[in-house]
Amino acid sequence: MKYTIPEWLKKIFQETFGSDFEEVLLSLTRPPKRYYLRVNTFKINTKELIKRIQEEIKVKQDEIIEEAIYIEGYEENELTNHYRYVVAKLDAAESTAVGADLYRAGVLSIKNANKNDLVNIVTQDYAIASEGVLVIEPKDLNNIQRGLVVKNIKPKFKLPSIRSLKAFNEGLIYPQTYPSILTVKELEPKENETILDMCAAPGGKLSHIISLTKGKAKIIAVDKSNNKIRKIKETLQTLGLPLPILIKNDARNIGEIFGSEFADKILLDPSCSDLGLRPRITFNIPEKDPKIYGKYHKSLIRKAYEYLKKGGILVYSVCTVSKEETFDVFNYAVEELKMEPLEINYKIGDVKNNYIEIFNPLIHDTVGYVIFKLRKV
Ligand code: SAH
Repeated sequence: MKYTIPEWLKKIFQETFGSDFEEVLLSLTRPPKRYYLRVNTFKINTKELIKRIQEEIKVKQDEIIEEAIYIEGYEENELTNHYRYVVAKLDAAESTAVGADLYRAGVLSIKNANKNDLVNIVTQDYAIASEGVLVIEPKDLNNIQRGLVVKNIKPKFKLPSIRSLKAFNEGLIYPQTYPSILTVKELEPKENETILDMCAAPGGKLSHIISLTKGKAKIIAVDKSNNKIRKIKETLQTLGLPLPILIKNDARNIGEIFGSEFADKILLDPSCSDLGLRPRITFNIPEKDPKIYGKYHKSLIRKAYEYLKKGGILVYSVCTVSKEETFDVFNYAVEELKMEPLEINYKIGDVKNNYIEIFNPLIHDTVGYVIFKLRKV
């Protein structure tokens, strides 16, 4: 498979990874070999969970993080081109590449296919994500607002089907990337602390914080819309976790409610340019301007600084690798806000400039991801 990589994207990766950058980018076209799940230790301990889940699927415990388990390997399917296409939005197509069905909201158009035909789900540049069966009449596409359009029968990558596991439906496990699990480990949330999650939906890291503090910390979780707050509730309810204080607002405005210097710990995990995500099936993606994101992240970190008690700790994470969203935000916090950089505990990625942990997809077999940690002095 040949991939065309746009110059703007190359430039971002070259700045962070140097001469290896093309290989790093190409590694994003495969899923990580390890598929990680986090054990919901609020309900079950890892040994017990492994014993129970072993009948359904083979898992291993991570060597370092007690509550992290993983399933090894994925299969890559040879896909046939049926020359009948359902063109999907990029994120919807990428989800089908790892097994999801395609729903109306993700469909852009249907080309050369009829109901019940075998079709390919493709991106706008015709990268093939999967094979499936078209379940609607093409002429009905414009009359329907929701519902299944293509039943996926062969995704590009066959990953373990977590949703069918008993343990998943009982809320005992939560799929999460390894760096995401590590992010909350770096935060080291403790019972009796006041902990703020400024960008909480859908609640993956939040649920980890609640589990680790056994529901005994004062946790405030913020996200911007009702829909996002609903997603958080769904996640926590599935996992059987107590709800924190949930605030629907721009996290930069919650000083109106809580004042300043109220938090012992803050997790800042903002929406970013997402360039570390994998597996990618095309690099023909909308151009992202890291400068705009970087500016946004600085506006958030400035507020995080205000909310933190003196001595309080901030963990920052993004699933991208642009310098503007990582080094520049770190430098801003250290130079302008005079925050004290803290050493990373779990040095699993490459730690640059002593404090900035970079997960390189090619080397660390993870998504591209960055974590750093600061104290308010
Ligand atoms: N921490 C989450 C993932 C966060 S994704 C998890 O582990 O599951 C980033 C989230 O930040 C999105 O839900 C987005 O709506 C939210 N967000 C972005 N800017 C925000 C802001 N200014 N205030 C509150 N939430 C924000």
